Amino acid sequence: METPHTAAATPKMRGPVSQVLHPIRGRLLIAALLAGVGAMLTLVPLAGIAHVAGLVLGDNAITAHEVWRAVGVGVASLCAGMLLISTGELLAHLADNRITHHLRLAIVQRLSRVPLGWFTSRGSGEVKQAMQDDINTLHSLTAHFYTTVGRAVGAIVFSLVYLFVMDWRMAIVSILPFPGFFLFFTRALKASESNMQAFVEGMRRIDNAVVEFVNGIPVVKSFGAVGKAHGSYREAVDAFARAFVGFTRPLVGSMANANAMIAPVAVLGGVLAFGTLFVALGWIAALDVLPFALVTPGLCGPLLLLHYITHDLNNAVGAARRVQALLDTPVLEQPAPGMQQMPRGSEIGFEHVGYCYESAGRGLADINLVLKPGTTTAVVGCSGAGKSTLARLLLRFFDPTQGRITLGGVDLRQIETATLYRHIGFVLQEVRLIHASVHDNIALGRPTATRQQIEDAARTANIHARIVALPRGYDSVVGEDAQFSGGELQRVSIARAVLLDPPVLVLDEATAAADAESEVAIQDALSRFAGGRTLLVIAHRLDTVMHADQIIVLDNGTIHEQGSHGELLARKGLYARLWAQGDYSFSAELAVPSC
Ligand code: ADP
Repeated sequence: METPHTAAATPKMRGPVSQVLHPIRGRLLIAALLAGVGAMLTLVPLAGIAHVAGLVLGDNAITAHEVWRAVGVGVASLCAGMLLISTGELLAHLADNRITHHLRLAIVQRLSRVPLGWFTSRGSGEVKQAMQDDINTLHSLTAHFYTTVGRAVGAIVFSLVYLFVMDWRMAIVSILPFPGFFLFFTRALKASESNMQAFVEGMRRIDNAVVEFVNGIPVVKSFGAVGKAHGSYREAVDAFARAFVGFTRPLVGSMANANAMIAPVAVLGGVLAFGTLFVALGWIAALDVLPFALVTPGLCGPLLLLHYITHDLNNAVGAARRVQALLDTPVLEQPAPGMQQMPRGSEIGFEHVGYCYESAGRGLADINLVLKPGTTTAVVGCSGAGKSTLARLLLRFFDPTQGRITLGGVDLRQIETATLYRHIGFVLQEVRLIHASVHDNIALGRPTATRQQIEDAARTANIHARIVALPRGYDSVVGEDAQFSGGELQRVSIARAVLLDPPVLVLDEATAAADAESEVAIQDALSRFAGGRTLLVIAHRLDTVMHADQIIVLDNGTIHEQGSHGELLARKGLYARLWAQGDYSFSAELAVPSC
């Protein structure tokens, strides 16, 4: 969406822009210079016309040679000027191509190194905006801003110098409308600047709301809550409309006045009025008004161009800021080369682990826990108790703010990411598939797997039959000819994990999101796959909880109780109370009232 063509920014280059454009700054300056000199040369014919008129209408006798020379210089200057402008534009576009390519690669490289938890706390609209929309917006800055400023400044400088050389008194009165323009222009700037942030924020909210709405359509439909889901989108649109009105209202009057002052006809009128006066006063000859009548109205175009381009600049500064913020996203700490360690076994240890969310404060505190190889640990607790945070820390979605987590005696931070995910697999409720074939989606963590290995993994995950029923079987592309239900998605994600064959598995058990048939298939797949592995389960099912080797009851970010089903019942604490209530599903939501 475009912001209105108003002057809402200062043309001053700000920090993020110079940072983002650093690799191509030299090229852009050369492009601007070429465009500026080119614009000056294209104005030479105007001066030539005034010169020829002076020769023809003047008192001195002239030769055809003099006229042809003036015409020749004019035409040659025009051609050379256009050539220089085109070369400048070409250079700027090549630089734009280069920076766009560079930024897209740099962002992808950066995002591949940020903690996975970073993505869970961000709307996908935000990443999409920076990756696609913002980089496209930067195009107006890189490909057009510098050359446009070069052209406008070149034309203005040439015109002013020429007019002052012709007659400084006439030059001063001819350009009087322009300070008037700047007066109204500055007033418009001030009026809109305070509302600009709200305007940009409103657009960002709409972007996020659209992406979230589209992503959530399946859930919305299944719950028949279409009106509600529209709600956040409608709110975003309403907020944007308010911001838009607040942004444009103070601008309209000032900008109308500013534009009227420098309309070519108004400027020409001023030149002719003052010219007539000066001639009447005998200060200049009537013929000497001609250069002013020809050149001064030509100043309006470049000035308006500068005005419009500041609007683009404002958008581009916002875009550059968001792109730079993405490029500055903190990455997951990696062991220094040569300092990586291999886990010695698959025992997991949480040692005084704590985690604080930046926005919400404490997530977990002082967690001490050992997951012996081959055992199952069920984590239960109320909503917000910290179950997902515990699981995500083990998966290094982010690192603990206190203490450490070890795998086979080695701090997770000392293990290379690829090695870590070969040892710890996960099946979470939110499954993300990429726009690629089903084959590639299953082989995501092990791209060298053979078709046979992938099919075996899919069989273990109870999804093989569904895949072969797709139009192109394993080659069907997700989102095109492969559409999966929630339960099927989970089984694809199980197949992914099966293929990696990790000794440790983190599992967020399926809840009611999957239909009954799917749930049976999922449980069947998991029980086959999980056997013999070290399991950490966010448990929602009675049999998982009862038969777990240890149960961790989390409350308010700490371990409230810990033990086997029998031990916890005997302790007569929170777990026993929940059990006595018959609330044995221990699903987060159901446990809430008792906590
Ligand atoms: P559970 O899985 O038991 O429902 P979580 O681990 O999701 O609990 O949340 C634990 C606490 O951390 C809650 O208070 C929750 O509000 C907070 N929290 C979880 N995720 C985030 C996040 N991305 N940003 C800020 N706070 C969060």
